[in-house]
Amino acid sequence: MEKIKNIALVAHDNRKKDLIEWVEWNHTSLVEHKLICTGTTGKMVEQALKRKLADERHDLDITKLKSGPLGGDQQLGAMIAEGKVDIIIFLWDPMQPQPHDVDVKALLRIAVLYNIPTACNRATADFIVSSSLIGREYIPVTKDYEAYIKRDVDLG
Ligand code: PGA
Repeated sequence: MEKIKNIALVAHDNRKKDLIEWVEWNHTSLVEHKLICTGTTGKMVEQALKRKLADERHDLDITKLKSGPLGGDQQLGAMIAEGKVDIIIFLWDPMQPQPHDVDVKALLRIAVLYNIPTACNRATADFIVSSSLIGREYIPVTKDYEAYIKRDVDLG
């Protein structure tokens, strides 16, 4: 991971207020990094950061994917598999089922597989954003899947 991180921000509707509060609170740190968001979250994050930076000249780097239920979570999962995501802040809703629950599960699975620091609540997000590693290069220890790739599959 480079010093400048690719940080994914996603929140389900009931958690968007929490995420936006958190983004506003941490805007100074976040604007130093590249942000990747699902569609609606991205629009709200962009508005919040522009409000916060109204008096400053600061370019925002925000990639907006499709809205989560329309494939945004899957796009993010694909980006993780391609090594384009370093950190995920994903405030998913623990109180309500979502139409794209299977996509959410897939995203969380791929995040674990690729050893991506993932916050699913504000406390964990606070620990990640305040870590000294956020502004430094970092080489995560990754699991070696070579044996899996080279395995023999018995075709019967
Ligand atoms: P949204 O998607 O940012 O487009 O609302 C979030 C999600 O439900 O994964």
